[in-house]
Amino acid sequence: MLVLEYKVKAKPRQYQAIREAIRTTQFIRNKCLIYWMDTCKETKIDRFALNKYSTELRNEYKFVKDLNSMAVQSSAERAWSAISRFYENCLKKVPGKKAKNAVLGSPQEERFFKTGYPRFQHDNRSVEYKTSGWKLHKTKRRITFSDKKGIGELKLLGKWDIHTFFVKSIKRVRLLRRADGYYCQFSIDVDNSNQLEPTGKQIGLDVGLEYFYSDSNGNHVENPRFLRQSQKSIKRSQRRIYKHQKGSNKRHKSRKIYARKHLKVTRQRTEFAKKIALTLVQSNDLVAYEDLIVKNMVKNHCLAKSINDVAWRLFRQWLEYFSYKYGRQAIAVKPHYTSQSCSTCGIKVKKSLSVRTHICKCGCKLQRDTNAAINILEKARGGHPQSNARGVATSTLLGESLVEQVATVNRESPRL
Ligand SMILES: [Zn+2]
Repeated sequence: MLVLEYKVKAKPRQYQAIREAIRTTQFIRNKCLIYWMDTCKETKIDRFALNKYSTELRNEYKFVKDLNSMAVQSSAERAWSAISRFYENCLKKVPGKKAKNAVLGSPQEERFFKTGYPRFQHDNRSVEYKTSGWKLHKTKRRITFSDKKGIGELKLLGKWDIHTFFVKSIKRVRLLRRADGYYCQFSIDVDNSNQLEPTGKQIGLDVGLEYFYSDSNGNHVENPRFLRQSQKSIKRSQRRIYKHQKGSNKRHKSRKIYARKHLKVTRQRTEFAKKIALTLVQSNDLVAYEDLIVKNMVKNHCLAKSINDVAWRLFRQWLEYFSYKYGRQAIAVKPHYTSQSCSTCGIKVKKSLSVRTHICKCGCKLQRDTNAAINILEKARGGHPQSNARGVATSTLLGESLVEQVATVNRESPRL
């Protein structure tokens, strides 16, 4: 899947119509969640049941009926992907107590106990059409939405060329709202014919506090400084919002400024992540990294680390995306003992965070993170029995509703 994005230009009443369609999507998703909560004890609810339910919603509410039927379907699929993710969490490593609660407690109780329990959405920003309800204009710079939401013809601004692809290969069209306007995204099904020549090289990455990452060849990549700088200015503009009275014009304005600054950082972050991810994938056949558990990291209050976390997650997504695209291997390994074990002899050398050098009796002396990176690479190669490497395919990148399309790929036995 390849995603192309254009900015959209339209009249105010069309933007209004897009907002309305986005609200409807959220309504359907939340309604499906309620339906699941109310009935999942008696009957088995799966994606087909939700699909059927969304058809009922169409008959019940006019504003749902106004939305293209496949777009309604894809809203129901959003609910399903939240639910199935929750089920997966229950099956996987989520502690037993929580899993038990999930079976015994009432839905209301469960919601308190489980972080993975699907939540109602209040801030949905996108609506997704599949293969109907829209039409690309012959001039190739316009798209018309033909359902009864009244969005109509939108002008596409951007330098991508959607028309080098067949219309048939466009699987999804999403309209989304950002702080600086409306965007149209096309998800395109491209075959992976852009395989690169093997390089014969493999690399392991270790994320640390000191550096953005350290690799198994002994190189370190510095933390992007712009993140911390803009973090300051974001904080400032955030405080400014609360100085103005609720509902006032000034407050509305400063909220907008804040949102835009956020968007800027997001873009800088993406650029940074994309660039190094692409370089790594191009110059290595295999990239190994830690499978960090996000939940644990959120608990960490250290600012430097939390900035890193977001950047790192994004970086990982791009890493997985590019390796999928170019037929390379991206392998996430469990981080246990990677920093303690000696990369030469395997003996555990205990050291606190402040110890920056790994020194072992066997004569091995390495920078701490370099040692860890080598261990990570070794694990990914399958050198250790506890290796349980799994890579997540591009799904994370494409957003919630596309999870169904791009299933999790086990990178241990890649089909590419
Ligand atoms: Zn050793």
